[in-house]
Amino acid sequence: MTDATATVFNHNITAQRPGTRTDEPPVKHVVVVGGGTAGWMTALLLANSAYGPRLKVTVLESPQVGVIGVGEGSTPWLRGFFESVGIEESEWMPECHATYKAGIAFDGWSTRPGYERYFHAFASMLDNMTMAPFIDNVHARLEGADVHAHPNRFFISAKLAQQCKAPRPQRSFPFDVWYGFHFDAVLLGRFLQKKAVERGVQHIVGHVTDVRLHESGDIASLRLADGATLAGDFFVDCTGFASLLIGKSLGTPFVSFKENLFNDAAVAIQVPHDGPIHPQTVSTALRNGWVWRIPLTTRIGHGYVYSTDFCPPDEAETELRRHLGLLDTDIPARHLKMRCGRVARAWNRNCVANGLAQGFIEPLEATTLLFVQRTAMALVAALERGDIGEEARARFNETLNAQVEGTRDYIVTHFKTNTRSDTDYWRANAANTRLSAPLQQLLRTWLASRPITGGIAKGTFGRGYPVMSWYSLLAGVGLFPDCPRPPTPQEAKYEMAEIDTLLERGAMNFPDHREFLGAIPPKPKEPSLQVYFW
Ligand SMILES: Cc1cc2nc3c(=O)[nH]c(=O)nc-3n(C[C@H](O)[C@H](O)[C@H](O)COP(=O)(O)OP(=O)(O)OC[C@H]3O[C@@H](n4cnc5c(N)ncnc54)[C@H](O)[C@@H]3O)c2cc1C
Repeated sequence: MTDATATVFNHNITAQRPGTRTDEPPVKHVVVVGGGTAGWMTALLLANSAYGPRLKVTVLESPQVGVIGVGEGSTPWLRGFFESVGIEESEWMPECHATYKAGIAFDGWSTRPGYERYFHAFASMLDNMTMAPFIDNVHARLEGADVHAHPNRFFISAKLAQQCKAPRPQRSFPFDVWYGFHFDAVLLGRFLQKKAVERGVQHIVGHVTDVRLHESGDIASLRLADGATLAGDFFVDCTGFASLLIGKSLGTPFVSFKENLFNDAAVAIQVPHDGPIHPQTVSTALRNGWVWRIPLTTRIGHGYVYSTDFCPPDEAETELRRHLGLLDTDIPARHLKMRCGRVARAWNRNCVANGLAQGFIEPLEATTLLFVQRTAMALVAALERGDIGEEARARFNETLNAQVEGTRDYIVTHFKTNTRSDTDYWRANAANTRLSAPLQQLLRTWLASRPITGGIAKGTFGRGYPVMSWYSLLAGVGLFPDCPRPPTPQEAKYEMAEIDTLLERGAMNFPDHREFLGAIPPKPKEPSLQVYFW
């Protein structure tokens, strides 16, 4: 029944050497407005372009508006970011109190017996041996056979997360693991700033009070609070939720995701920590949203993401404190507002929006920095091609919007498939019918017990996430027919004990997470970042 499955293979990302081109760049001076993670990641990728120092890059940040200072989990693609700019984990991770992330544990999203929690693993090459059994078993279970189809038993990353192991195997181990990171957002911003400035990026502190446009409507210059003017040929708006250039000055419409992503606020608490480190984010469903648990080397960050339509901020803080056992402490909590959605065109005239200025799909899958990276890389590629006209802008926007909406749909699926019925919040999420057409088709196919692998492979639905992730989510919450029947011999062909042994033996090749973080070795010279195709 498997008509397409996921395969993991080695994919090399080598550090690009900047300044290999001798021709003139299509724009001479790029001004990045905003010195948060988005601004500095963009600046570093621009400084690393083939034009090298001939592309002048300036980062401007306000002395009076701080960075958002949250956003401490990544997808595995961040590994590719650091590899592409040639920065070693042994250098940046200790400075940012960073830890490894082998995946995300979802707790309390489903009430189906046996499916109350599951792990969404980041793929590894070893998964090539267990992916087919997982997909085949899920298909058999969809057809009503009583076989094991919970994702936790099929992926080595789930074992590493349970056992507090670093997902960096010993050198002799022939399989690599795809992993993400947790980090202190403020320290990461500072680290990126230091590296960008070392690589020639100019840093100016000044508050933009006015944006001046050319007659054509393009941005000409920025007026600062101290009376100075900063001109540029091209601008990157990284001003966070203020969306100063793309939104306020250029009037680019905003497409809200509120109708199917209800959360619009968060309250965060940080707690010191020096115990064993599980290489995972835990996302636990509470009454009106969910709580993240992100371990760094020095502390654990917690944050309750919720909807103010269902729960006022003081009630959310009390619920979070109760959940953490911190009701009687004075550990401070920080309240934040969020705006979920995207600008209609991230590239408008001579301005590209990146980070929160571009959009935000709530943080459940920690995807914002992935879009920061993708946007900056696509901009660098367009500049290197000398292709910055109307058609290039339209292609850029179409591709990015499709990626954002695919990712949004995956996140919406977490909420739609919940089976909690304890609050209006969860009932409203389960009853939500305002899903995108591709997502409706994907869920209809699954609920009709038909494989979704083919539709994902063709791009009919499920864009933005691979087969393994979709199957982990839908099987992880136990979205299967009730009352399974005994399997046929063909359906019962996989021996779970063999898979357990394979993963247990595999996990023995990985070191203790905290110990490894104390002395991270440099990476072997031949890079081996893997991606998986489906
Ligand atoms: C609750 C929550 C949880 C999140 N979790 C994650 C996560 O796990 N993973 C993830 O990838 N992302 C996450 N994010 C998103 C993440 O925080 C951001 O994408 C990331 O920090 C980048 O922010 P930014 O640089 O776009 O904006 P900011 O950090 O807000 O920076 C804005 C910059 O703009 C400057 N600025 C503003 N106005 C002016 C002006 N007038 N003149 C000059 N400069 C100005 C400011 O000085 C500042 O430097 C989360 C977000 C929230 C709200």
